[in-house]
This record gives sequence, structure tokens and C-alpha cells, in this order.
Amino acid sequence: MAKWSKRTAAVHGGTRRSQYGELSEAMFMTQAFCYPSAEAAEARFVEAGDDEFIYARYGNPTNRMFEDRIAGLEGTEDGFACTSGMAAVSGALMALTKAGDHVVSSRALFGSCLYVLEEVLGRFGVEITLVDGTDNAAWDAAIRPDTRLVFLESISNPTLEVVDLAHVVKVAHANDALVVVDNAMITPVFSYAADMGADLVVYSTTKHVDGQGRMLGGAICGSKELIRGPIETYMKHTGGAINPFAAWTHLKALETMDLRVRAQSATAALLAERLSGHEKLSAVRFPTDPNHPQYALAMRQAPSGGTVLAFEVKGGKEAAFKFQNALEFVIISNNFADAKSIATHPATTTHQRLPQDQKDLLGISDGLIRFSCGLEDPEDILADIEQALSVI
Ligand SMILES: *Cc1c(COP(=O)(O)O)cnc(C)c1O
Repeated sequence: MAKWSKRTAAVHGGTRRSQYGELSEAMFMTQAFCYPSAEAAEARFVEAGDDEFIYARYGNPTNRMFEDRIAGLEGTEDGFACTSGMAAVSGALMALTKAGDHVVSSRALFGSCLYVLEEVLGRFGVEITLVDGTDNAAWDAAIRPDTRLVFLESISNPTLEVVDLAHVVKVAHANDALVVVDNAMITPVFSYAADMGADLVVYSTTKHVDGQGRMLGGAICGSKELIRGPIETYMKHTGGAINPFAAWTHLKALETMDLRVRAQSATAALLAERLSGHEKLSAVRFPTDPNHPQYALAMRQAPSGGTVLAFEVKGGKEAAFKFQNALEFVIISNNFADAKSIATHPATTTHQRLPQDQKDLLGISDGLIRFSCGLEDPEDILADIEQALSVI
């Protein structure tokens, strides 16, 4: 049969059945594997076949099903599943760089990603240049012949800036640099990173893949050469492999991800439209909303801007806190992509540690709210937001 569409791949991709013919994917809760003979053990350490496993830190049938399924969705040859999104980001960065290398990254990054780049890689002698990811000329100026790797979030958290990925890939590849994309915000459903030539696509599967606030997880997707080469070698020796229970939860969650993410992203688009021009708000931001500064680029790259929008309440922190405290069912949390809608105040939580000049540079103002759309009825979500805004 021809290549499956994403919806079919999300349900059937990567399935491996045991001799029992189970309908639902089996959870292999085992640390190690047994060999029928000493010779078989020796042979497997020389080269393990597709259905041969050695130790759960190296691989496990449940993990492998999840890896094959998410790689199939992304459209890459292979994937490696990790304990968390940060295990995936740090693994990808550590596996591919060494002292003396130059790395270019967009500045608008998830806080822990910034820490790994500046503090961890920096400590080992990797030179980091941070650029405004929305500025193509800044990428052109920063990427040099000795640049080994380029890192970016396709859509940044929390300010929803959009990177012109085709441009960055072209400049990076012209300089023989690898492109690693943190794809948490755009989701595997609307991802375009692999299609546009990214070498590695990294997910915090904690977000839309699990989508129900249960499990931490991560995945690195890319060519077989990179994944079963430097990535697997680094991950298996440093202990970042996902545990089989989380992999199983993620496998089952992938079956419903398309439905969930499409519903949540439709809600996000609706909220952006209906909140636009609200008297209590000074700005509303969603990539595929016509008022977004990069609307044309966002529309060219994907049919949706994801499941998260951002808005700025007039009146700074005091007004933002009043809004959050007045919410009835929308939850105050720092997570996103949950089935439950979540309102986050980045300036005092996820991005609290950033110095004020960095917050200013990134547009993380005191009134900024990051809003993650859940699976509730969109009219109920809107009503909760409206009544909470009316309290300000
Ligand atoms: C959440 C997140 C991560 C980290 O993922 P964890 O699963 O929490 O480790 C990395 N990058 C981005 C963009 C994220 O949103």
C-alpha cells in the first residue's frame, strides 16, 4: 500500500505484535532480554536485528513501536524516544557538538533549552551565537563556515514567533551545519520541519502527544544515519531512554492525537478571532491570525498555528493576576497542550529567571498570558475568559 496518511500512521504505524496477537500494543516491562545461547548473545552484541533487544536503556519493543510511529508521522526514517523533552533536546545537542564548534540559535527559546546551550555546551567550549529568529538577515550574518549546528523553535514559546525554516535550512546547509528544530508548539500533526529539510526534529512528547498531563517524554526524529549513529550511541550510554510505560501511554495517545490537536487548534483560532480588539486586551497573538506580524509566513508553512495563543491584558501584572484568579475552570499552570485549558503568566513563572532586558527583548511583558486551549467546549472557554477579563 502507498505511504499512509498521518492519521492512519498515528493509529497503525510501528505496530509489532507478539505471538499472542494482541490487538492493543503490548507494554514490555522488562529491563533486559534473554538469549537462547551464549552464541546468540555474542551475535546480538555484534549486531542486533530489527526485533532483537539487549537492554532497555538501549531499546525495548514498546519504545521501538513508539519511535517508529512518531518517526512515521514526522516523515523521517527513524526516531529515538527519550525520558523527557529536555533529554531529547540536550541529547541531540550534546551528541552532535564538541569543543570548538560554533552553534547558532534563535534567542526566543524555552528556558531549559537556553540553559543547555549557554551553560552546558558553553562550559564544554562550544561557542553560541543567539539571534532574533524572525530576522533572516540575522541568521545570514551569524551562520559561518565553522558553524556545526543550528537550533531553533519552529514557533517560539510563549511569544509565538515564527521562523522562516526554509531560509534557515538553506543557509545552514550551505555552510554544512545541521539544523535541529524543537517542534513542541507546532505539534506533530502540523509539523513541516522534516519536509523543509531539518536534520533532526525534537519533540517534548509531554505536550501534544501525551496531551493529558500524565507522562513526561521526548523524541528525536531524523535519518537512520543520525538516529542510529551519534544519537543512539549518546542516549544509550548516558541513560536518556524513555521508560516502556511512558512509551506505551504515548503510543495509545498518538491514536487520538490528530483529533485532539485539530479540535484544540480550531479553538485557538476561534479565541484569537473573538478576543481580537477586546477592550481589556492590548494585543492578541496567534500565528495564523491575520493580525500576527508573520501571518503570511505562518500560513505558508502550516495550516494551523498550534493550540496555544498569547494575549496581553492592559494593566500589567496586577491585571494579569486578577484575570487568572477569576478563571472558573481554566487552570493556572505552567504546562500546555493539555486536555484542560491552561492560563500561564510567563513573566512570573516559566520565564521568571530571565533578566528584565531579556524579557523586554523577547516581548514577555507583565501583562502577557499564554493560553493553552483544551478540549472543553470552545464557547465555554471563551465565556470563562470573558468573565475573568470583566473582573479586571
Ligand atoms: C516543554 C518544552 C520542552 C521540554 O520538555 P519536557 O518534556 O518538559 O522536558 C522543550 N522545548 C519546548 C519548546 C517545550 O515547550
